[in-house]
Amino acid sequence: MNQINKQPIIQEKIRKIRQDTIKKVKIRSPNNDLNKPVAFWTKPDRLLNEVGNELTIILRTRGCEWALGDNGGCSMCGYIRDANIDHVNSQNIINQFDFAFQNSLDKIQNDSRPFIVKIFNSGSFLDDTEMPKTAREYVYKKIAQTKNIKELVIESRSEYINHENMDKIKNFLPNKYIEVGIGLETVNDYIRINYINKGFKFNDFQEVLKICRKYKVGVKAYLLFKPPFLSEQAAIDDCKKSIKKLLEIKINSISINPVNIQKGTLVEYLWFQNRYRPPWIYSIITCLKESLQDKNFETTRILCDPSGAGTNRGVHNCLNSDCNKQNLEIIKNFTLSQDINELNYSPQCFCKKRYELNLLQ
Ligand code: SF4
Ligand SMILES: [Zn+2]
Repeated sequence: MNQINKQPIIQEKIRKIRQDTIKKVKIRSPNNDLNKPVAFWTKPDRLLNEVGNELTIILRTRGCEWALGDNGGCSMCGYIRDANIDHVNSQNIINQFDFAFQNSLDKIQNDSRPFIVKIFNSGSFLDDTEMPKTAREYVYKKIAQTKNIKELVIESRSEYINHENMDKIKNFLPNKYIEVGIGLETVNDYIRINYINKGFKFNDFQEVLKICRKYKVGVKAYLLFKPPFLSEQAAIDDCKKSIKKLLEIKINSISINPVNIQKGTLVEYLWFQNRYRPPWIYSIITCLKESLQDKNFETTRILCDPSGAGTNRGVHNCLNSDCNKQNLEIIKNFTLSQDINELNYSPQCFCKKRYELNLLQ
């Protein structure tokens, strides 16, 4: 893997903020219940070819190696606050998964619509130090045995994706559609490395994509909408370029994630200083409208399910809750239907003018 040797200028600051956060997490939560997940829920979601339901399970592991190590992690990511920092063993992780899975099994088995299961661990599912092999295999077996689950999504940094673990996942789940979510964030190496501190190049991502394709495992690329140090307009342009490139290489799914201000991050530090504003919802709609054509949906699923949407810390327009609600509804309807016509509806609000005047900030 072609890791970046030259350190981005912001890395020192990120590392300092991260170390402070890790210290606080250790003091705050010495008694985490390691037999229960951080969270789990079910709700409607877009499956490959239809509308279905998702079961999302967030497991507590030691946390992302990239954030725990000397690199300090990514500038917008505060997931380390959900981590245990110290090692979490296989049995604990299995108990966490079982707690969520058993509590949702009735729903999965009795719903007329199929399920997609998303297992997130605020890091890399394929990193053995975070997610021991036995726990991974336990999850695969349970999913394989459950008929109404059609798809499984896991997340991993690209350096942990290899022939061995792709072969394994495919062997355990020959009849399910599997997708690995990778935080590519942008196709622009300069932005990814210097503004996000992601530590890998687009070429590395493409190498990993080849491996996944060999095993018929799908790849979902996460795009970060409005990384720090970009204006609103630059964010739209960056995301449009990324979508264009990813459509060209016929990626399986693109998930657009507008920045939300997570605690204990460089982005939060900039936000406190008024040097960062989360993106406007208008920008997401513009970006989708200007990037997509009907034919794109033959190869690629386009998703956007923003966290913290409509709040000060998340993607939002003005303080008028109707304005946020109506515009977010457009994105939600588009994601579920995969129909670009949903993007044409344009609710009116006084803030649109202010938005247009602030595009270059
Ligand atoms: S975004 Fe992903 S790779 Fe970056 S610090 Fe967070 S969990 Fe780790
Ligand atoms: Zn408004």
